[in-house]
Amino acid sequence: MKRLVLLGGGHSHVHVLDALARKPPAGVPRGFPSVIETTLVSPHPHQVYSGMLPGWLAGHYHLRDCLIPIDVLAQRAGVVHHRATAIGFDPATQRVFCSDGAAFDYDVLSIDTGAVLDLSALPGAAQHALPVRPIERFIQGCTSLVEHVRARPRTVITLVGGGAAGIELILALRRRLRRHVREGRAVLQLVSASERLLPGHPRGVGRRLEAQLAAGGILYYPERSVATFHAGGLMLHTGEQLESDINLVATGASAAPWPRRAGLATDASGFISVNSFQQSTSHANVFAAGDIASMVDHPRPKSGVYAVRAGPPLAENLRRTLEGRPLKRHVPQKWALYLISTGGHHAIASWGPFSWQGRWVWRWKDRIDRAFIARFSRDTPTEANLLHRSESESP
Ligand SMILES: Cc1cc2nc3c(=O)[nH]c(=O)nc-3n(C[C@H](O)[C@H](O)[C@H](O)COP(=O)(O)OP(=O)(O)OC[C@H]3O[C@@H](n4cnc5c(N)ncnc54)[C@H](O)[C@@H]3O)c2cc1C
Repeated sequence: MKRLVLLGGGHSHVHVLDALARKPPAGVPRGFPSVIETTLVSPHPHQVYSGMLPGWLAGHYHLRDCLIPIDVLAQRAGVVHHRATAIGFDPATQRVFCSDGAAFDYDVLSIDTGAVLDLSALPGAAQHALPVRPIERFIQGCTSLVEHVRARPRTVITLVGGGAAGIELILALRRRLRRHVREGRAVLQLVSASERLLPGHPRGVGRRLEAQLAAGGILYYPERSVATFHAGGLMLHTGEQLESDINLVATGASAAPWPRRAGLATDASGFISVNSFQQSTSHANVFAAGDIASMVDHPRPKSGVYAVRAGPPLAENLRRTLEGRPLKRHVPQKWALYLISTGGHHAIASWGPFSWQGRWVWRWKDRIDRAFIARFSRDTPTEANLLHRSESESP
C-alpha cells in the first residue's frame, strides 16, 4: 500500500484527479487500486483557467465561468485536499513540507505547480508592479483597476512582456476600459524585449497582433526592457523614461527554487528535468508535468496546451508506477494550436507555419475553453454550470 502526494492543482493534475474519480469498471475499487492515501497540496479551492483570463478581463466571462473546482474534483476522487503551498521536500525521507507547517510522507510524488513570475531581476517591480502570477492576486489587482482609472482624469498603464499572455491581457484591458471608462482617460502601452511580437510564431501572427495594438491605440515599445520601476514611471535599458501610473508584468516563466534545493536534477533555469516517462531524471519516484517540468528528450515551450496534454499520460504513469508496471512513453506533439484573443469577439490562430484570424477563431476558442471547464465541472451544480446550461439553451 502506497502514499501518493500531488503538489499543485495545475492543468495536468486536474486530469489525474479526474482519472482517479472516473467510474471504474465493475468490481474494481475507485481510484488507483494499490493506493490507500492520496493527498493533493494546492493553496486554492479552484484553479483559474488561464486561457479564459483575458476573456474575463475583457468582460466576456464571469470569473466563476473560468474556474476548475479542484476541491470538488479531489472530493470526488477520494483525495484529501490540503490547502497550502509546498515549500520543499526531502527525497531521502520522502517527506513534503508545506507553508502552514504540515508535512506529508510519500512513496510517489507528482509535481504540477506551474511556473512563477520572478520579479527579482526587475528592480522596483516588487513595490511598483502587479505580476500576472499568482493569477489570484492579479485578478484582485485588476478588479480595482477600472475604479482607479475612472476616478482620475488620466492614467497611464504599462504592460511589460510581449508574450501571448501579455498581448492578450493588454488588448483585453483596452476592451474593458472602453466599455467602462470615458475615452482618453487611459493610455495603454506595451513594452516588449523582443524585436517583433511572438517571434516563435509565424510572421503573420506578429503582424496581425501589431495591427490590433495600433487599432486599439496601444503604444508599443519593441526591443526594450525595463531597467527600473519607480513611482510614476519606469526607466528602460535604452535610457528612455516612460510615464506610467500602473505597471502590469507578464514576463516569462521562471522556476520556483525549492525543487532544485531539494536536490532534484533540473535544467539550467531550475525546471525539473524529466524523461519521456515524465519521471525525474534523478529520482525515479518523483514525476513532474506542466510548466515546472523540462522534458530532456522533447523540449517544448511552456504552455497550457502541453500541460493539458501531459495530464492523461501522467495519470497512467502514476497508476503504473504504483502498481509496479512498466511506464508508458509520452512524446508531446510537435506543434500546438494557439488561439490568441484580441480583446473583442475576435482571435488569431497559430499552428506550425500557419495562421488565421477572425470572429470564427474567437468562437472556436470560446467553445474549446468552455468545453474544457465543463469537462471538469460535470455533475457539479455550481452557478457556472447553471449559467452555461441556460446560455446554451437560450435561442
Ligand atoms: C493570462 C494568461 C493566458 C494564457 N493563455 C494561454 C493559452 O491560451 N494557451 C496556452 O497554451 N497557455 C496559456 N497560458 C500559459 C499557461 O497558463 C501555462 O502554461 C499553464 O498554466 C501551465 O500549467 P501548469 O499545470 O504547469 O501550471 P498552472 O496552471 O500554473 O497551475 C499550477 C497550480 O499549482 C498551484 N501551486 C503553485 N505553486 C504551488 C506550490 N508551491 N505548492 C502547491 N501548489 C502550488 C497553483 O496555485 C496552481 O493551482 C497563459 C498564461 C497566462 C498568464
